[in-house]
Amino acid sequence: MGEPTGFLKWRRELPVRRPVPVRLRDWKEVYDDFPLEKITTQAGRCMDCGIPFCNNGCPLGNLIPDWNDLVYRGHWRDAIDRLHATNNFPEFTGRLCPAPCESACVLGINADPVTIKQVEVEIIDRAWDEGWVTPQPPSVRTGRRVAVVGSGPSGLAAAQQLTRAGHDVVVLERADRIGGLLRYGIPEFKMEKRHLDRRIAQMEAEGTEFRTRATVGEGVNIDVLLATYDAVVLACGATWRRDLPIPGRELAGIHQAMEYLPWANRVQEGDLDQAPIDVHGKHVVIIGGGDTGADCLGTAHRQGAASVTQLEIMPRPPEERATANPWPQYAMIYRVASAHEEGGERLYSVNTECFVDDGDGRVRALRIHDVAMRDGRFERIDGTDREIPADFVFLSMGFLGPERSPWLEHLGVTFDGRGNVVRDDRYMSAVPGVFVAGDMGRGQSLIVWAIAEGRSCAASVDRYLMGDSELPVAIGPGVRPLA
Ligand SMILES: Cc1cc2nc3c(=O)[nH]c(=O)nc-3n(C[C@H](O)[C@H](O)[C@H](O)COP(=O)(O)OP(=O)(O)OC[C@H]3O[C@@H](n4cnc5c(N)ncnc54)[C@H](O)[C@@H]3O)c2cc1C
Ligand code: SF4
Repeated sequence: MGEPTGFLKWRRELPVRRPVPVRLRDWKEVYDDFPLEKITTQAGRCMDCGIPFCNNGCPLGNLIPDWNDLVYRGHWRDAIDRLHATNNFPEFTGRLCPAPCESACVLGINADPVTIKQVEVEIIDRAWDEGWVTPQPPSVRTGRRVAVVGSGPSGLAAAQQLTRAGHDVVVLERADRIGGLLRYGIPEFKMEKRHLDRRIAQMEAEGTEFRTRATVGEGVNIDVLLATYDAVVLACGATWRRDLPIPGRELAGIHQAMEYLPWANRVQEGDLDQAPIDVHGKHVVIIGGGDTGADCLGTAHRQGAASVTQLEIMPRPPEERATANPWPQYAMIYRVASAHEEGGERLYSVNTECFVDDGDGRVRALRIHDVAMRDGRFERIDGTDREIPADFVFLSMGFLGPERSPWLEHLGVTFDGRGNVVRDDRYMSAVPGVFVAGDMGRGQSLIVWAIAEGRSCAASVDRYLMGDSELPVAIGPGVRPLA
């Protein structure tokens, strides 16, 4: 334990977010650098608990007290080794994770939790700066061939683990770039894509082969894959979007969030000067109050929207944990993401009745009313009907599971009641030798879960191919123990 009274001496601190007018102009990540002495004292707030609930709260089972102590003592090189022992891509989770570890931190019972996520990102950024993150090619090759379908965080984690175990791994991705939602979902201002690019370069140097514009079910035949590879990992995500089939849905100007966000990513990649859906000077309404909605909000502000309103049918969350949501559960509280800080209005407990036509086939407004939850059902509150102007509407209401493509049906995998692909305790689907990792098997979730599943799935594939495996398994709560 770094500093026994650290949690009494120092209060929780986070890096400062850059001024809103500046960050809206450059699209770069929103945080200023965090001075070294501050990260040292923040790590020193860790109590090195006998039972570290943070470690249990993390789906990866990150060894949090260990690296807090190492950072406090200045042993950064050891810290990155401990961090990489459980997490292939801490630069992704350190920037993007909602940090269930911090919700579970023991300090959080009656004080502010340790800034675990910030310590994590400082360790990995420093490791890259110092040149400590180098390719780890295998010393022995097995001659076994594995195809990984999908290059989101679960596919990448599985591919890196399997390559390092000595297998010949090919990642097939239908998009023109590698990364899944990290590339064409999550905006540049949440994670600059240079972090993704250098990880992919590391993986290529280790021997992982990437093929883009390779769509299984279209250009790539699944039967050929099964015949050519010793194992196949499906990591295709859960990209089937929930829609809002109400009157006026067909009007121009109404798009799914994932029809809007990838264009902004492409502009930042340098593919386009301007996005085909650009809301400069327009009134924008986002339906759905979650993180994807917040990504649309930040993107709309950077494009210069005249106004942005985010609608949520659920009530506003409480400022503090509710009694039904005790520590160490993930705290369901009102949060202000960087995008919320940049402007816009959030309306809670509202339902959208219909979209209003401008007379020319375009959306002009939304008709909404307030609702109250009674006996588990939403009820309209009379007298609250009103219109809000909208030139563009983005639907951000979650995802229904993986796409039900004909090639999946042909392959013979089965689906559970929630529409996700069924796998057993070895991450194997109903088809022998075909494994499933990430959102495709658990539904739209989090990056940390995708990495955890990719790692555990890789261990299972390795054992399937070799009879045994030394690859580690993620040990967080709810992670399937390997049979
Ligand atoms: C807009 C948005 C923002 C998010 N922000 C966050 C966040 O800040 N923090 C967080 O923790 N989580 C976030 N999430 C959730 C997180 O991104 C996902 O849980 C995670 O990316 C899932 O990883 P995955 O590898 O399972 O799937 P994905 O990242 O969805 O990757 C699946 C890949 O498979 C490819 N694919 C699909 N079918 C085929 C095929 N037939 N052939 C070849 N390739 C195929 C797809 O093109 C895609 O690249 C966000 C999600 C969205 C939509
Ligand atoms: S629960 Fe919090 S204080 Fe305890 S070991 Fe983990 S980070 Fe440190």
